Amino acid sequence: MSYQVLARKWRPKRFAEMVGQEHVLKALVNALDDDRLHHAYLFTGTRGVGKTSIARLFAKSLNCETGVSSEPCGQCSACVEIAEGRFVDLIEVDAASRTKVEDTRELLENVQYAPTHGRFKVYLIDEVHMLSNSSFNALLKTLEEPPPHVKFLLATTDPQKLPMTVLSRCLQFNLKNLTAERIQQHLEYVLQEESIPCEVAALWLLARSADGSMRDALSLTDQAIAFGAGAVNEADVRSMLGTIDQQLVYRIMEHVAAHQPQAVLEAVYALAEFSPDYHGVLGDIVSLLHRVALAQVVPAAVDNSLGDREQILALAQQMRAEEVQLYYQVALMGRKDLPLVPEPREGLEMTLLRMLAFRPADAEPLAASAATAVTDAAPAARSHADTAAAPVSTPTSAPKAAPAPMPRAEPQPAAPPLDDVPPWEELPADLAAMGDAEPKKSRPADVKHVQPAAAPLNRPVSSAPEGVPEAPIADPGIAKGEAWALLLQTLGLSGMAESLARNLSLEVEQDDLMRFHYMPEQEALLSGDRRERISDAIRQVKGDACHVEFIQAAQTRETPAQRAERKRVERLAEAVVAIETDATVQILMEHFGATIERDSVRPID
Ligand SMILES: [Zn+2]
Repeated sequence: MSYQVLARKWRPKRFAEMVGQEHVLKALVNALDDDRLHHAYLFTGTRGVGKTSIARLFAKSLNCETGVSSEPCGQCSACVEIAEGRFVDLIEVDAASRTKVEDTRELLENVQYAPTHGRFKVYLIDEVHMLSNSSFNALLKTLEEPPPHVKFLLATTDPQKLPMTVLSRCLQFNLKNLTAERIQQHLEYVLQEESIPCEVAALWLLARSADGSMRDALSLTDQAIAFGAGAVNEADVRSMLGTIDQQLVYRIMEHVAAHQPQAVLEAVYALAEFSPDYHGVLGDIVSLLHRVALAQVVPAAVDNSLGDREQILALAQQMRAEEVQLYYQVALMGRKDLPLVPEPREGLEMTLLRMLAFRPADAEPLAASAATAVTDAAPAARSHADTAAAPVSTPTSAPKAAPAPMPRAEPQPAAPPLDDVPPWEELPADLAAMGDAEPKKSRPADVKHVQPAAAPLNRPVSSAPEGVPEAPIADPGIAKGEAWALLLQTLGLSGMAESLARNLSLEVEQDDLMRFHYMPEQEALLSGDRRERISDAIRQVKGDACHVEFIQAAQTRETPAQRAERKRVERLAEAVVAIETDATVQILMEHFGATIERDSVRPID
């Protein structure tokens, strides 16, 4: 008996044998079993997902001699003839080869006549979008008033090209691309049934290359069996498909995430031994980063279609959202520029080094920064570190032991894999010296942003917006300053006198005495008549008995100028908090890797 190709041999004979497409099958099975049949069905989907398989099964179900049901017997002459493709009342047409209107007319001429053998005349028109406009018109007339004994099963990869008039008269079923996971499972099942030894990793490779098409997957498997002399193993499949080991791509990105330039270049060296398609490698990196970004936002959205869910989730924990976005963009540009690079490997290396060179300034590898955050006592810095880590700490189904980003003790200028590097490919000394253990940059604490530029008083003025031990009201210095600042506003001073008054501190206010302290640098400006103007203004408010003194001495109370600055900084801090806690801003930060430029925040009055 001659060898029958797997795709044909394993074409499903019953609806229950169909892999995937449950949503479509359920509707069809119910329609058949409940006898609620439409006269025209349209199956859409890419090649090899089972459009014609379903249509043929449907034809069997309609014409099986045991009656219309979703379980055709498979034994009667109708079932057998349909399976063998010689059933007279199943008219199969490939529209791609019969596009002319005459063909369609000829085809539809016999529609009126009752079926010769079966219950229904079934027209299966594949690639129906290829029909010409006049052919569609001819078909449409029949679709508008179909004889009761006729069923139309249309299949297309491109439903957009069908006229609305045809679409609206068909019951449409969209067949989905099969996931690699689904295909891999089916291949495993088929090969087991065929008693062909196989390696699971090889099946994953085949499943991924099939790009959602079971037919392609089975054809590739046939090839692989021939290639591997009766067995399907990973090495053979890899060289047959010309794919590189994805593990190498993960390794590269793990080192990028850990900011280890030397390890990155070593991984590229290991990759280069396979003379890969560098354009494809950069494409793999882009796809990988896309899935990592998804994993950070919605961990549950990461499917296992490539059999690498765990690795993706682990990587998602090693990178910040903004890093992922940056690396994605860099990889995309590197891929675009690759044709311009004299040596493709050079292009890959530059792209990876660019990722490291342009990574966000404060970004340390995540594992390291977590340790910093714990030892940091500043609560503001703590909370910042927490929010930064939040998106990546969410995955609940994360692997139990998230792989640490490859702790490497010391830089190894001559690491083992580089031993056999030809001299012209040796790393430049300074690059090697960059090593893996980057000096930790101290994370600038956020409190720095909310502190006044110049410390206004000997006592630190608390600038924290929320109540902390040194709350503004509890501080007598500030309280005194408050009274003077309010008084100043009522004095109606202007120009230099007002400016000088703003920088005085009211140190003593007793009975009718008001004593102000000023700094040495004010001495020259605080001339006699300016003192007079300030004193007069105060007496006009406080009464003539008030005695005003100006003494050059250390200021221990807040001046109105310092108070205004403190208020400004506090409002700015509040504005930063308001922006950071704003729901829209948080969405932008989480989903698009947005960051807040704190220096640009301005409070609105
Ligand atoms: Zn039958």
